[in-house]
Amino acid sequence: MVKERKYYDLLEVDPTAGTAEIKKAYRKLAIRWHPDKNPNNPEAAEKFKEISQAYEVLSDDDKRKLYDQHGEEGLKEGGGGGGFHDANDIFSQFFGGGGFGPFGGRGGGAARKPTRTPDVQHQVGLTLQDFYRGRTKKFKVTRQTLCQSCRGKGSLKDGAVQKCTGCKGQGVRIVMHRIGPGMVQQSQQACPECNATGEVIKREDACVDCKGKKTKPTVEMLELVVPRGKQPGAKIPFYNKADEAADLEAGDIVVILAPIEEDAGDDKNTSFSIPAGPIKDPLSIKRPHFQRLKTGVDLVMEVGISLQEALLGFRLAFRHLDDRIVVVESPSSTVLENEAILTVENEGMPLEHNPARHGDLIIKINVRMPTVREIRALKPDQLDALKAILPPPVHGGGAPENLVGQHFKSAIDDEEYEVSMVSATPYDPEAHKDKQRQRHQDARHAREGDDDDDDDQPRGGQQCRQM
Ligand SMILES: [Zn+2]
Ligand SMILES: [Zn+2]
Repeated sequence: MVKERKYYDLLEVDPTAGTAEIKKAYRKLAIRWHPDKNPNNPEAAEKFKEISQAYEVLSDDDKRKLYDQHGEEGLKEGGGGGGFHDANDIFSQFFGGGGFGPFGGRGGGAARKPTRTPDVQHQVGLTLQDFYRGRTKKFKVTRQTLCQSCRGKGSLKDGAVQKCTGCKGQGVRIVMHRIGPGMVQQSQQACPECNATGEVIKREDACVDCKGKKTKPTVEMLELVVPRGKQPGAKIPFYNKADEAADLEAGDIVVILAPIEEDAGDDKNTSFSIPAGPIKDPLSIKRPHFQRLKTGVDLVMEVGISLQEALLGFRLAFRHLDDRIVVVESPSSTVLENEAILTVENEGMPLEHNPARHGDLIIKINVRMPTVREIRALKPDQLDALKAILPPPVHGGGAPENLVGQHFKSAIDDEEYEVSMVSATPYDPEAHKDKQRQRHQDARHAREGDDDDDDDQPRGGQQCRQM
């Protein structure tokens, strides 16, 4: 048994109602009686307040227990001086929290006042070298800061700042739209009378410095320090460096590190190579074009090598992203095929949490075979020497040649055949595609020719004739 039923009656529920039922009841009634929805009904505001008080008590286990046992008197004696929260606060707390409120628009019908100004994102471009070595970069921001003259009050005169009557100081107004017979949609709109600030200052009272706006645009230089090993997309915050506003904490400027595709290296050729001969000047060593792998910490470089290096190995000097000169020696345990992949440990990007350690450097090998001109330039004795040195052919050298022109009888069908010779040519993908297209066209004409004698007539012409 409960001492009083008033709060239950207000929410139109039974004293045995559970939390979910109470919530549901409040939702329905609060929307029905919200003052913004009943602008010409003063009773609604009172009713809305009562419903909110009832809900505040019944949705809180401790307060509900107190009320059940001792009624409203018990609440006054029992807890927190018996005060209630503002009905609008209860309402916005209930409908806020990111979802869509009952009146459409963000965060519900009642304005949920922000506590901070919005964060601002900035993108700063960095080269691969910047990411490798770390980088300090200055950049300029223009932000609103509180006016020094009026200390962010908008006026030097006491009491000059008035609550806006157009929005009751909320900064937003609820606007009704008739969208059909008996259907009304409500949406939230920034109050035009006070520029959504909730306050108005008479022009003659306004601070001359900021013209009553409380803030002024200020240019500031910020210094971005990017430590070694940061990943692209990493965010570096500057706390409270977004716009300042009266009564609000300033949000953050968040700098996002974006990779710049500038890093082609000294060698614009993607396949790194250096001229033959001894290297006298370390400064002549070039930086290859590096790319960061998806792992984030491994680097890739492509290296072109000759057939001789593929067979006998190579030593290669390159300039790294931090200007060190590194000499790489190929593994002696293997012959390098084209597209072979080598790994050099610890020569990739520095690790973010331990920049003394690095990912790996991946080397993609492009074997450059001798050109036909180089082979044709060989003298017969050089060719013989080459044949003697290289492993023997696996197709018997020129051996099948003496078969050409010979006749033989097939074991399958007893027919007599002649051995023929055909030539292979380098594959040309474009010519291949053209040929394929031609075949399709021929096939279509052949099909259409079944019910039409004129094979060469294009398709469109046939259609016209049929009509
Ligand atoms: Zn001012
Ligand atoms: Zn206003």
